[in-house]
Amino acid sequence: MKTGVVLVGAGHAHLLALRQADAFRRAGVGLTLIAPPVFRYSGAATGVLSGALGLEAMEVDVARLARALKVAYRPVEVTAVDRSARRLSLSNGSSLGYDAVSFNIGSGIRLPAGFEVGPPQRVWPVKPLANLIALHQHLREEIARTGRCPPLVVAGGGATGLEVAAVLAGLIARLGAAPDLTLVLPDPGLPWAPPKAAARLRDNLTRRGVRLVEGRVAGAGAGHCRLQSGEALACHDLVLATGLQAPGLMASLGLPTDARGRLVVGADLRAADDPAVFAAGDCAVIDGEARPFAGVFGVRAAPVLAANLLGGTKTYRPQRRWLAILDLGDGQGFARRGGFWSLGKAALAWKRALDRRFINSIRAFSARL
Ligand SMILES: Cc1cc2nc3c(=O)[nH]c(=O)nc-3n(C[C@H](O)[C@H](O)[C@H](O)COP(=O)(O)OP(=O)(O)OC[C@H]3O[C@@H](n4cnc5c(N)ncnc54)[C@H](O)[C@@H]3O)c2cc1C
Repeated sequence: MKTGVVLVGAGHAHLLALRQADAFRRAGVGLTLIAPPVFRYSGAATGVLSGALGLEAMEVDVARLARALKVAYRPVEVTAVDRSARRLSLSNGSSLGYDAVSFNIGSGIRLPAGFEVGPPQRVWPVKPLANLIALHQHLREEIARTGRCPPLVVAGGGATGLEVAAVLAGLIARLGAAPDLTLVLPDPGLPWAPPKAAARLRDNLTRRGVRLVEGRVAGAGAGHCRLQSGEALACHDLVLATGLQAPGLMASLGLPTDARGRLVVGADLRAADDPAVFAAGDCAVIDGEARPFAGVFGVRAAPVLAANLLGGTKTYRPQRRWLAILDLGDGQGFARRGGFWSLGKAALAWKRALDRRFINSIRAFSARL
């Protein structure tokens, strides 16, 4: 019996591929989406954390979208995959067969090596993004209750660590408190940014009261966090932006994965050793095309994925340069594409416009209801 195509996860690639629902119907191919009922858009997550944006800027109602597109939908997660039987186990205890399955389930936080946490420390990994919504609410309540910012440490040397520290400084200022905020990073020189841009970014943070401490967070206990050097920092809330990795479900498929647990696929987004398995976005990597974790790759892969799930043979090569804009939480943004960069209000306005366009393009389909 034909069981059709199953899309696992409502990430960027699947949200866009769903627009081809009519083409699947015309081809007589059943299409089912399995995903939690809310998609949270990372482009707007830091705006929500800083308090500049409301929740509606980042959340998409997946159930409504599936209804509007007349796609079968299960509001659950896939917990295991039996590739030989072509069956998925679901978090509600049921299971579902497939002819072809596509994964677009994003990524989670890679914890620092040997990381240990003792209660009652509060640790906030930046993924899943729901943690950032909860952190915003927690800081609001804490500052309203005590009138002070609790000692906050952000761990992470990449663009995400810097962006999260910057928007937390913005939130604390918005709530009228003085910051007690430290960014712990292996290299305060910000090697991922051009040198002049790195100096401007460092300046921006220190001027707003963010301390930059060189090191790596190794663990946390009551009221403090510990660095690998043995130094302890006062810390009530520890935010982890220590890098991303694919969910363990990808490695559990028993197919080749890279060092970050991403399923290795061909340029046709299909696993080399199992033609019934496809993947796109953060949980996949195209063989020989290593690239960082970013939403844009899932967006660009979407048309190729939809075509190939319908039996096509299209290929996708990730672009070598892409635009990334960080929200600095003070009304400014930092935009970068290849060697070009710009820091200021125009960069943030650009980011907001692009993010609104993306979210509205997804929601446009729900408006059919
Ligand atoms: C704070 C922060 C800010 C960022 N800002 C940007 C930015 O501005 N621009 C950018 O390009 N990237 C940004 N990123 C990176 C970005 O979050 C990811 O690269 C991007 O979300 C990956 O998209 P995706 O489509 O692969 O998956 P996601 O967008 O993560 O979507 C995956 C979906 O799959 C669902 N899912 C997960 N597991 C299962 C399962 N087992 N079964 C069913 N469904 C499942 C999830 O609920 C989720 O809805 C940011 C990351 C962080 C942490």
